[in-house]
Amino acid sequence: MQFGTLRNYIDGRWLASSSEHLQEVRDPATGELLARVPFSTVDEVNQAVAAAQDAFGEWRETPPLVRARTMFRLKERMEENFEDLARTIVLEHGKIIDEARGEVRRAIENVEVAAGIPSLMMGYNAEDIALGIDEETVIQPLGVFCCVAPFNFPAMVPFWFLPYAVACGDTYIVKPSERCPISQSRLYELLDEVDFPPGVVNLVHGGRDVVDVLLTHPDVVGVSFVGSTPVGRYIYRTAAAYGKRAQCQAGAKNCLVVLPDAVLDKTVASILTSAFGTAGQRCLAGALVLAVGEVYEPLREALVEAASRLKLGYGLDEGVQMGPVVSGQSLERILGYIDLGLEEGARLVLDGRGVRVPDYPQGHFLGPTIFDGVSPDMAIARQEIFGPVLGIVAVDDFEQALEVIAGLPYGNAASLFTSSGRWAREFKYRVRCGNVGINIGIAAPMATFPFAGMKDSFFGDLHGQGRDGIQFFTDRKVVIKRWF
Ligand code: NAD
Repeated sequence: MQFGTLRNYIDGRWLASSSEHLQEVRDPATGELLARVPFSTVDEVNQAVAAAQDAFGEWRETPPLVRARTMFRLKERMEENFEDLARTIVLEHGKIIDEARGEVRRAIENVEVAAGIPSLMMGYNAEDIALGIDEETVIQPLGVFCCVAPFNFPAMVPFWFLPYAVACGDTYIVKPSERCPISQSRLYELLDEVDFPPGVVNLVHGGRDVVDVLLTHPDVVGVSFVGSTPVGRYIYRTAAAYGKRAQCQAGAKNCLVVLPDAVLDKTVASILTSAFGTAGQRCLAGALVLAVGEVYEPLREALVEAASRLKLGYGLDEGVQMGPVVSGQSLERILGYIDLGLEEGARLVLDGRGVRVPDYPQGHFLGPTIFDGVSPDMAIARQEIFGPVLGIVAVDDFEQALEVIAGLPYGNAASLFTSSGRWAREFKYRVRCGNVGINIGIAAPMATFPFAGMKDSFFGDLHGQGRDGIQFFTDRKVVIKRWF
């Protein structure tokens, strides 16, 4: 067991949880026991909140320039540990090493953007709003915030929030996913080396009980959640009931619309990474291809041919293009959806169930799986499968494609593949999804942009990352001045 029993990081110290409730964290490819994660007690969560609350006063008075310097030091430590962080992600999650490197890179980019806090947090003013009267806005931090994170980007997701919060002068608590808690623990070792004042950043392991303490605690002012839609909805409601800010990024069912004038080979390559990268366990994964008119047949052929050549295996091995799914439980759920698709009358044109990875018999592997003949009212078209399963839907024209997307409950991402600027503009203008791709299969916003999302994919108004992040973690105060 490489990582032992994980500890909490509270008030600048690593503390063993007194909880007897522990869960195993296993490598999804090899089955190796990597760590045990504690489900922390109510007292331990309260202790983290108290530490963060105590640290807030001095931290908010620390000049933004000085707070920004902690971001520079953090970036340095992350760069020095880049490869180790990426390998840790592969071990606990199963994604391939290049995807893990991309994840660490995006986490670092958020630290880089947050380092701009001296100018990002500047207010604005106006002279002479009335005779001899001036008005100004100042931007101030609010207190203790927390993050409740999902398993699928165990290093990056808390870094959509934490760097902005602490750069703004707030203090922070991360509750990582209990399924993949190790990468965040590694990152907290680096946060520890950066020498934040004790209590500014805290880490508490556990599950829903820890979340409930945070959501109802009077000293927690806001929560950033990323995870499934039912939990996101619950967290948004509960946070509101307790007077807290909440931004809840939730589940997805993303459509990739292909027009007959799309550049076919590049479109196929893009769809392949979108649908099967990270074994389909991404909130931006393409889950449904909406093939318009005559492109249906050639597109299906090309997709099946290319997907059947993807190399499955252990994420740290050379040449591997797709890893396992995160757990046996996830695999069972996804297999259930494949059975359901068959019952609903969709045709399985590529069946990943038979794929074996002989060197890793314990691994939770499922090969790329493609259904065609999918209709938009089927459960496999409407529900999030979160695995390497792609459905192809035939649509007559662009309008029908937009209707299918509008009829889905989710609104996380949608992409259009075309050579026509006119249809591209129309798509961007009208589609009700937060992250829009034009000839891009994974419309992942850079750290300077908000990670958007609409409908059942997002509850709240201010998104993670960029300027939205700064607004979420601060309040604006207006001062109107007259001197006699
Ligand atoms: P999940 O909802 O099961 O868990 C997310 C977090 O919520 C975990 O920390 C978990 O401990 C906590 N949690 C679970 N049940 C809870 C409850 N009843 N009360 C309080 N807290 C609870 O999600 P997951 O399976 O870890 O992650 C996959 C999901 O995340 C997918 O739906 C995916 O689309 C979504 N996701 C969305 C985005 C986005 O930006 N929109 C990004 C990544 C992942």
